[in-house]
Amino acid sequence: MQIIDGKKVSANVKERVRLECERLVKEHGVTPGLAVVIVGDDPASRVYVNNKKKACELVGFKSEEYALPAETTQEELLSLVDTLNNKDDINGILVQLPLPKHLDDKSVIERISPKKDVDAFHAVNVGKIMLGEYDFLPCTPAGVMEMLHQYEIPVEGKQCVVIGRSNIVGKPMGMLLLHENGTVTICHSRTKNLKEVCQRADILVAAVGRAKFVTADMVKDGAVVIDVGMNRDENGKLCGDVDFENVKDKCSYITPVPGGVGPMTIATLMKNTIKACKIQNGIE
Ligand code: NAP
Repeated sequence: MQIIDGKKVSANVKERVRLECERLVKEHGVTPGLAVVIVGDDPASRVYVNNKKKACELVGFKSEEYALPAETTQEELLSLVDTLNNKDDINGILVQLPLPKHLDDKSVIERISPKKDVDAFHAVNVGKIMLGEYDFLPCTPAGVMEMLHQYEIPVEGKQCVVIGRSNIVGKPMGMLLLHENGTVTICHSRTKNLKEVCQRADILVAAVGRAKFVTADMVKDGAVVIDVGMNRDENGKLCGDVDFENVKDKCSYITPVPGGVGPMTIATLMKNTIKACKIQNGIE
């Protein structure tokens, strides 16, 4: 059994982005810029935003933070998005979700220019992913693919089972595995015989949002298990969707929580932002 080290893979990706950023500054005089918008004071969102800012500093990007009060109106938020869409030194816009309940995140996402949509949530980018002709990949599923690549885990012809069908993780995860010729099954809360379906998986991705949901009896011997979940256990400790202690010895590879998929999401965001900068500036 080998533990997939998300911190190491993520550091490799960020180092590649840092070197590329250095080249853009030196050869083209452009510095990639990311704007992060946060509305309200959700503590988890605050941690994510701080981590994104830190990653920008590390790779040499310019980052701008727009921290808006919880009572911000839809019009005010859309107007900020319009301003950022027109700002030449900002290549990527990220609106931290979830937004306070009175705001409609769908229309906010649709207002972001698809060229600056580095989360790849805009319908245009989602459509491009379906077609396999994308500029940006959704950060978490693309981070998972990067881990599989760096550990040279083949996907082609493998039975891939994804538990979860959200727009930000499960669905695009299935699509990316399919693009690499996996045979993909996407499961959800109405799936019948979930245990039997999971037992067939060569690659099992859990994106459920329930602590220790995937138990040892659901995992085939030698499977690759990827845990996207970020939950709190009964003691308030961060844990994934997989019962790691009991599952790990059955796996060929497994990702831990923390230190697995989590760090990969930000690394992909950095990749998407530098790509956006290159596209917007016509740089190869
Ligand atoms: P979500 O929108 O709540 O989706 C959860 C999915 O799990 C749904 O499709 C749901 O099915 C399915 N599900 C729930 N109970 C189930 C059951 N008993 N059997 C089978 N399927 C079941 O969550 P999400 O946004 O995709 O996130 C999933 C997890 O990943 C969360 O823990 C989240 O915190 C974490 N996450 C981590 C990162 C990262 O960077 N590591 C990024 C994003 C999310 P239905 O569709 O039928 O309801």
